[in-house]
Amino acid sequence: MEKIFEGQVAIVTGASRGIGRGIALEMAEQGAIVIGLFAQDQEMADSAIMEIEGKGGVARFYKCDVRNPIVVNEVAGKVIEEFGRVDILINNAGVHQHLKSWELSLEDWKDVLDINLTGMFIVSKAFIPKMMEQRSGRIVNISSCVAYTGTDHEVHYAASKSGVVGLTKSLALELALHNINVNSIAPGYIETDMVVFDSEEQRGRTVETIPKRRLGQPEDIARAVTFLCSEGADYITGEVLHVNGGLIMY
Ligand code: NAP
Repeated sequence: MEKIFEGQVAIVTGASRGIGRGIALEMAEQGAIVIGLFAQDQEMADSAIMEIEGKGGVARFYKCDVRNPIVVNEVAGKVIEEFGRVDILINNAGVHQHLKSWELSLEDWKDVLDINLTGMFIVSKAFIPKMMEQRSGRIVNISSCVAYTGTDHEVHYAASKSGVVGLTKSLALELALHNINVNSIAPGYIETDMVVFDSEEQRGRTVETIPKRRLGQPEDIARAVTFLCSEGADYITGEVLHVNGGLIMY
């Protein structure tokens, strides 16, 4: 069967675990050469590489904090030198912190905004020039449903994810004439290290609020990413796709 992304180069930030790992695996299964970025957990990154290569895929992983433009630009240079192109960029790396606004320090606020939003700008800025030169590219930025609903325990996270939507739409406007589509996905509850329940009971209560009656899995997001990066989505740009099992509807 023909693979959708055969020979394409796909950058995935936060690719070592959770949603990013699911996206990296799916991209590799669809024939892409996967360039995974992660912050610190080398063991996790190694196991992601093994999983991709075990299924016949090609992967390079770089320890690269998305907040650091010097390191990000170095990685972009290496990727372009080795593969000569960049077709897909999935800005997925993110962190959250479960605190009320009055418990947050200014450092907490800055840390979350720096990783979730400024880091996305830094990585995009490093790879967009090559996409412009090629006159082709697909960018998908991972936001969150809380960008739309707000949340009563992490204002900085919600603010960063709303920022992702503004960044996505603005880049989409700037880059449409360069044949680069920029979209966002706003996940609901996806079962990763980021979503922790105090008890099975609390987990059950959460599941009860989701019309599909299950937590999302990284593959649910990965499949949506694949669609947005496929030929069939050529006319979709500046859009936010809500993948949340019906939790919130617009
Ligand atoms: P996760 O399991 O905690 O994984 C986070 C990934 O991001 C890891 O690979 C981590 O690398 C990487 N990362 C963190 N800080 C980084 C940095 N400064 N530079 C580079 N990489 C960094 O999270 P997840 O649940 O998969 O979430 C992925 C994205 O989806 C995030 O943007 C999150 O906000 C969004 N999201 C998640 C949910 C959900 O329910 N899970 C819902 C809505 C939106 P290390 O392991 O090396 O630190």
